Amino acid sequence: MPQRVVLPQTLEGKTILIAGAAGFVPSTIAEFYLNLGAKVVGLDNFITGSKSNIELLSKYKNFEFTECNIYEGLPNFKDLKFDYILSLASPASPIDFSEIPLEIMRVNSEGTLKLLELARDQKARFLEASTSEVYGDPEIHPQVEEYVGCVNPIGPRSCYDESKRFAEAMTMSFHRRYNVDTRIIRIFNTYGPRMRPNDGRVIPNFINQAMAGEDITVYGDGSQTRSFCYVTDLVDAIHNVLFSEIHTPFNCGNPDEYTIKKCAEEIIKVLGSSSKIIYMPLPEDDPKKRRPNLNKLQSISDYKPKVSFEEGIKRTAEYFKSLK
Ligand code: UDP
Repeated sequence: MPQRVVLPQTLEGKTILIAGAAGFVPSTIAEFYLNLGAKVVGLDNFITGSKSNIELLSKYKNFEFTECNIYEGLPNFKDLKFDYILSLASPASPIDFSEIPLEIMRVNSEGTLKLLELARDQKARFLEASTSEVYGDPEIHPQVEEYVGCVNPIGPRSCYDESKRFAEAMTMSFHRRYNVDTRIIRIFNTYGPRMRPNDGRVIPNFINQAMAGEDITVYGDGSQTRSFCYVTDLVDAIHNVLFSEIHTPFNCGNPDEYTIKKCAEEIIKVLGSSSKIIYMPLPEDDPKKRRPNLNKLQSISDYKPKVSFEEGIKRTAEYFKSLK
């Protein structure tokens, strides 16, 4: 029987480095750990992260931030000693893949390398935020962690898929070669407040189109599936993995699976929108289905997603409204 996770009641006295802190998932994790009493040091180059997410965190006296490109070098941390290093700095929207592919490859290779070296030198626990994209266009469904994937190494998504696969390989190599205390998570589709309204991913697109009464742009025939996790549920999953004792990857997400057409219909209904669905070309290599098998995480923890799709969509729409 695997050992059950014991979650800490407080993280007072602990220091956490969060690379990519201006992103919507990392900034939500940062706030969660600040509320548990940790000191949090954030890094970001704002290539896709938002200054407003850092302003939000800056109201906590235990938060520090340095603007930097981690793949060009980490700041001089002087006397700071990190207990946990979270590697969460990567653009993750398919629209980023065509615009900034080399930045994505560099942060997941050179950037992750620098964070792993720091974890080794400081004897910190290290967590790599990988992705369901390592499974590519999966041939088995739902996806289990043992599945090694079906990835096109030269396709338009390869800058992300392959660099995250590399980041996982490097994380395991640092664990095997230097005994670094590593964790790997594979994040499935996640949404929620603090996303960029123009993020390009399906949920922000559909919510903003629905709120404006514009056409909802379904790519392909909308039969492809995704399983959507609300951001606070993802934070809960990550927290459980960080405090587990297992070095191999964990799927993190919500197994509720929707076709993209159904997702559009639900968002129209929940937001009471008059928008109509239109169909546009399917991007190359768009995965046909995606759903996490969560047995591994649930065998060691009480993890269970709590926020329904309807509630999550309402909360995310409220956030986008508040920006206007
Ligand atoms: N998608 C869509 N309309 C949009 C944006 C995305 O139909 O305006 C589809 C996209 O083709 C994919 C799914 O929604 O099948 C999820 O896309 P997203 O960009 O959110 O992330 P992915 O899971 O593909 O990385």
